Amino acid sequence: MALLRLDKLVSFCTGVSRKEVRALIRDGRISVAGAAEIAADMKVDTEKAEVFLDSRRLVYEQFRYLMMNKPAGYVSSTDDPRDKTVLDLLPGEYSRFSLFCAGRLDKDSEGLLILTDDGTYCHNVISPKKNVFKKYYCRVSGMLCDGDAVAVAEGMTLPDGTELLPGRLEQISESECFIYIREGKYHQVKRMLSALGKPVTYLKRLKIGSLELDPRLEKGSVKKMTYEEAALVFVNEDYNNCIN
Ligand code: URA
Repeated sequence: MALLRLDKLVSFCTGVSRKEVRALIRDGRISVAGAAEIAADMKVDTEKAEVFLDSRRLVYEQFRYLMMNKPAGYVSSTDDPRDKTVLDLLPGEYSRFSLFCAGRLDKDSEGLLILTDDGTYCHNVISPKKNVFKKYYCRVSGMLCDGDAVAVAEGMTLPDGTELLPGRLEQISESECFIYIREGKYHQVKRMLSALGKPVTYLKRLKIGSLELDPRLEKGSVKKMTYEEAALVFVNEDYNNCIN
């Protein structure tokens, strides 16, 4: 059971200041089921208390999980001196939360990006030890061949000596493939394909674990996920044969 002051809980759920919450309490607009008297400093159970603003039930959520369809041109960081960041794409209602990216995408990459304020979740998504595979669609210049899939499956060593865990490359056409990797090393997919002599010309992340980019989500838009949806990243459906 997690207890929180009523004014904090209302402020957290609504975005209004604690001073304004006290005014709402004075005006009789805040109620708590089962409580005869309401006070700003009363402790409420964040999981069970039925707190209302007028007739609207306020539900306390400890963390947020957002799915973004990242467009090219934005960096995946919380602030940047030069570039626009993915946080600039968020609706204002999220500005009071300290959101960050659970796994980055390069400025010119597109697709599935998760934003959250849950540090443990973020750690588990990006840690290679958790075997969370990320699926990318890649377009390259040059012609892919069977040897490329073998190299990725064996675990590549990049020209600078960086050793990579085994992944999977599925060829779609001469110049298109899907790549599945469980690490997020700097420019990893681009460096892998460059090392194979086929530089990437377009890169989009489609899936993390079993969480797929919602095809209805427009480029630059976000949608809020339930924890159950967000936890799909930890369900590895069909990548088991990559793990060794
Ligand atoms: N690998 C890359 O090279 N870039 C990305 O944005 C993601 C993975």
